[in-house]
Amino acid sequence: MRDTNAPKPDLSRGRPYLAIPGPSVMPDRVLAAMHRAAPNIYAGALPEMVAGLWPDLRAVAGTAQHVAAYIGNGHAAWEGANANLFSRGDHALVLATGRFGLSWAESARAMGVNVEVMDFGTSSPVDMNRVEDRLRADTTGQIKAVLTTHVDTASSIRTNIPALRAAMDAARHPALLAVDCIASMACDEYRMDDWGVDVTVAASQKGLMTPPGLAFVWFSEAARQRCKGGDLCTPYWNWGPRAEPAEFWQYWCGTAPTHHLFGLREALTMLLHEEGMEAVWARHEVLARAVWAAFDAWGAGNPRIGLNVADPAHRSRAVTAARLGAPDATRLRDWTETQAGVTLGIGLGMAAPSDPAWHGFLRVAHMGHVNAHMTLGALGVMEAGMTALDIPHGPGALAAAAKVIASGARPSRPIPP
Ligand SMILES: *Cc1c(COP(=O)(O)O)cnc(C)c1O
Repeated sequence: MRDTNAPKPDLSRGRPYLAIPGPSVMPDRVLAAMHRAAPNIYAGALPEMVAGLWPDLRAVAGTAQHVAAYIGNGHAAWEGANANLFSRGDHALVLATGRFGLSWAESARAMGVNVEVMDFGTSSPVDMNRVEDRLRADTTGQIKAVLTTHVDTASSIRTNIPALRAAMDAARHPALLAVDCIASMACDEYRMDDWGVDVTVAASQKGLMTPPGLAFVWFSEAARQRCKGGDLCTPYWNWGPRAEPAEFWQYWCGTAPTHHLFGLREALTMLLHEEGMEAVWARHEVLARAVWAAFDAWGAGNPRIGLNVADPAHRSRAVTAARLGAPDATRLRDWTETQAGVTLGIGLGMAAPSDPAWHGFLRVAHMGHVNAHMTLGALGVMEAGMTALDIPHGPGALAAAAKVIASGARPSRPIPP
């Protein structure tokens, strides 16, 4: 028998799991690809590799049109899009479903764009009828672009982009459609060209499984034509030379982000050429459904526990926002990190950090390089934490999640005789 007075073991030792919605878990292959001496930026391996990277960057967003990359994070991607889309005084309509649409609006406003926000709150999807009505009312076509998030990472609401395109078409409005896919890219299904999107923004550190530091702006030919010569388009942000550089340095308007590029190369090889985008989306779908099934079970008979987004059709497959009752969300996050090596996401935008209610929200990320055992492990650790902390929760969550994984898995390989 173990001495009951012996110190308790530290069960967090082992490989930690960062289950926050960015930065996401990175494959060791991506990290290893970056581990090299600085390359020559004028000739050789780096410029040769980058020539092949651009077609794959287009493919990951589902476009055959243009892409510009920047050294930056998601905020830089917003500014890159704004600088090219708008001139000072232009009008933009922002559809917000949480926190990040509002932040994109602030970024555009600070650059002198006339921004109108339609705020749908933190747990409801965009109301397409309201958008259509608003666009119909703009009889002079003042609104130059509609900006929205594909997934708002704070609320985990996913916007139905084809439905938004249809609403814009029904209103016969000429505005360009610009979509923030920073959370959703390479997690939630996304088809820029098929869905009629003009501008897509993303960054490297979420579904693209690469360290923070690369920002991407994909743009349609229509956007390229309509956005020439704007007064916000300074040389650094100009998407033209970045998308069609005459010389290698123009991809970056300066020194290339050398090591990030080798990491991104490996990540895109894994996503596009080994797994395939359809399979990547399907994997995130199953993992997301496992998380939802667990919350449904924990929350049965426990109204303190529940998912933020009621309708699965409007939920992200990259991240799940949930409530656990204050202060239990904070207690649980602290427990899983310090006792079991799993870091969960804070609740964002659901209450002010100074409000005690803030401690009732958390997020579970399932974006990037994640698989069944990681998701089941995170859920198991959450259940252990709720048990340790006496947080009331319904039974059967892990069995429900396991069932989702079992039914989502591929058929087993036959055992060789
Ligand atoms: C993470 C995120 C951002 C901000 O990205 P940063 O790299 O932190 O600047 C913007 N929009 C969405 C939807 C995000 O998930």
